[in-house]
Amino acid sequence: SEDQRIAKISSAIRVIPDFPKPGIMFQDITTLLLEPKAFKDTIDLFVERYKDKNISVVAGIEARGFIFGPPIALSIGAKFVPMRKPKKLPGEVISEEYSLEYGTDKMEMHVGAVQSGERALIIDDLIATGGTLCAAIRLLERVGVEVVECACVIELPELKGRDRLGDKPLFVLVSAV
Ligand code: AMP
Repeated sequence: SEDQRIAKISSAIRVIPDFPKPGIMFQDITTLLLEPKAFKDTIDLFVERYKDKNISVVAGIEARGFIFGPPIALSIGAKFVPMRKPKKLPGEVISEEYSLEYGTDKMEMHVGAVQSGERALIIDDLIATGGTLCAAIRLLERVGVEVVECACVIELPELKGRDRLGDKPLFVLVSAV
């Protein structure tokens, strides 16, 4: 059943306390990647949800959105567009700043990767405060792309990132405390 698949996915994610700094409970998806059945179920659950939604773009957020995004894109017949950290993409980019706990960061996307009117799914491994997904939404909407939904493997509901997305739908497989 779907519940059993999600339970296996949840138990395949390792939690590492105090990484990268004290107080952070790091949700490590690399252990999920070591279990082909649970990894495939993860991809399949997203594909089942998005295959008939006319999505032409899967936008993956660096770095772990680059692991889950491409197999989903291939299965639903969409293109994959990387949303990268500054100064990584070689072509002309548009960029969007967002705030972190201390300071700011930037996210970049290649100009011309997407066209106005396209329908996008944004994918990342985890939503915490929602700041990263908000920046990705703004980048795509600035160029006229319709963001259909954001999807993550894991949500940290205590941080209320979902509220920060406003009325943009968010789909997650696992809630962590
Ligand atoms: P946020 O912008 O606060 O929603 O943070 C989400 C981004 O930071 C995602 O790209 C996650 O990979 C990463 N992240 C934040 N908190 C964690 C955590 N506890 N475990 C693993 N990754 C995290």
